[in-house]
Amino acid sequence: MYNIIMKICIILFALFFSSNLNAENFYSYGDPSKNEVALTYDDGPSPDTLALCDILKKYNVKATFFVLGENVKRYPGYLKRIKEDGHLIGSHTYSHKNFYKFKNNPDMAKIIEDEIIRTENEIKKITGEKPVYLRYPYGYNAKIGIDMAKKMGYKVYNWSFGYDWNKIDDEELVNKYISNIKPGAIFLMHDRKYKTDRVLNLTQKLIEELNKREYKTVRLDEMSFK
Ligand SMILES: [Zn+2]
Repeated sequence: MYNIIMKICIILFALFFSSNLNAENFYSYGDPSKNEVALTYDDGPSPDTLALCDILKKYNVKATFFVLGENVKRYPGYLKRIKEDGHLIGSHTYSHKNFYKFKNNPDMAKIIEDEIIRTENEIKKITGEKPVYLRYPYGYNAKIGIDMAKKMGYKVYNWSFGYDWNKIDDEELVNKYISNIKPGAIFLMHDRKYKTDRVLNLTQKLIEELNKREYKTVRLDEMSFK
């Protein structure tokens, strides 16, 4: 009887520990008791990266850019600027595949691995550093993706609020982001060619509001997590 109880305890402990490991490798908001928020930009670099960096510089804000390998290859100089300005560079995989659609593909793990490695190589060519922050396209958070990230030395970060891909007017968009300001918020926006005008405006208004409310705007590697 004692043995059975011991075995059950060991199994429960192992289950708890393995699920906890995954929990430690996936985040979508920071510590809700800290007045910190993070601004994150996906899909770049793009020809609009420079204007975005100018705005961030004007307010002395450091952000996190989750870049696509194919765009780094296309616009290496813009990635360099992101790095020079002191922003954090994370991987958004190579070609923005929707891994949810590969659910029954037997090569799924290999496809994910390739997308990460190819991006890592492109980023390393410019910055000399392996990124360790990852955000999958479409917020993909299936176990296979989180486990692969861990195996490859990455942590996965989603977001607590993002809306800039929706067709609403600029003022409404700004208000939506402002109404989602809270301690530990991770905001998702996009650094996409020819679509950045509204994001520039949004970034500016959001930073002004955050400053007014005395929030600290941090890179994801400076953010507190519980
Ligand atoms: Zn994306």
